[in-house]
Amino acid sequence: MARAAHWNPLIEKFQAKLSKWKSSTLSFGGRLTLCKAVLGSLGSFYFSLFKAPSKVIKTLEKIRMRFFWGGDMEKRKITWIAWDKISTSKDRGGLGIGSLKAQNIAMLGKWWWRFKANPNITWAVVIKSIYGDDGGFSRPSVTRRKSGCWGVIANLPKYLEKDNISFASHFKLVSNVNAPGSIKWNWDLEPSSIYSVSSLRNYIDMAILPCSVEKWQWNPLIPGKLNILAWRIIHGRLPTMVNLSKIGVTTSTLCKICGEAPETENHLFTQCRITKDLWQRLSGWWWLLDPNVRTIGDLLNCKNLLQGHRRLSNIHEGIMLVFLWVVWSYRNLKAHASGVKSISVLAYEVQSFSLFWFNARNRKAAALRWNDWCCDPVLECYSRV
Ligand SMILES: [Zn+2]
Repeated sequence: MARAAHWNPLIEKFQAKLSKWKSSTLSFGGRLTLCKAVLGSLGSFYFSLFKAPSKVIKTLEKIRMRFFWGGDMEKRKITWIAWDKISTSKDRGGLGIGSLKAQNIAMLGKWWWRFKANPNITWAVVIKSIYGDDGGFSRPSVTRRKSGCWGVIANLPKYLEKDNISFASHFKLVSNVNAPGSIKWNWDLEPSSIYSVSSLRNYIDMAILPCSVEKWQWNPLIPGKLNILAWRIIHGRLPTMVNLSKIGVTTSTLCKICGEAPETENHLFTQCRITKDLWQRLSGWWWLLDPNVRTIGDLLNCKNLLQGHRRLSNIHEGIMLVFLWVVWSYRNLKAHASGVKSISVLAYEVQSFSLFWFNARNRKAAALRWNDWCCDPVLECYSRV
């Protein structure tokens, strides 16, 4: 399995799962979910026994990246944000996909734990008889020369050393409180002291993936695609006319909604004539919205006004996010299909989508009612908590 060609079945399966038709029918949120889950049972089997050659990891990451942006291996779409920035965890400014390299190593690392935690089970005894009582961990170069996948597993610390990541030192021998006089192994990257794949995976990803200044705190009340929209706006990587002209896709920079000013994120969501009217209309309905927002930063920070009321502040921010979504969808409708909608229709969309999404994700409080939601949504939220 050290040869890239032997990984072709996995690559084919990967490609089939992340196919073109799925990328064109799913939203960004759906594609994100599929990117995270694509490894499947075959991939998990391969990854838990063999270290994938870096060429294979690169190919698999490329398939995921192209799928995420809506393309495939034949047709490439614009990649607006670097893949390693997307892969990094949400609290470090990414979308939490995680790298396949870290997943592979962390799954192999589990064998170290199994061997140390249960040294007397049959397979461990076999390993000991071949590689010595310590499983060959202290002499990885000798272990490597013998055939089989154990040599690769014993060499994990050496592979991680290249990225300045320590591995073996996180296994600690401590006295066993349940059996006085005896000792046991602890894994110090997990509060429970028991090895978990996710703990090593996160640890490796922290070391090899970048950390962004721009971070988006996921709002649980609305779908992933809206959170991803806000995340892209924060990174300044939405395909607005100004951004498209910067990469040479278009020469015109005029706003697709009003046609009067350059289409930046700020203009589109806070200064455009149509969106301003829509925002005014909405702030008359959900009166907690500030009618005088000037920048996209004001919009995205709106949650801070309502600290201390977690659910209400999530709803408040949720309405703002639905507003962004409705404006962006309308902009795309005008750009690609020349469709026109009135302010009333757009406001109705914000009201109805937000009610539908909040109720669908509402696990604890009673469902919001449409008539009361339209009349006095703030009161309705208080009465239904
Ligand atoms: Zn405009």
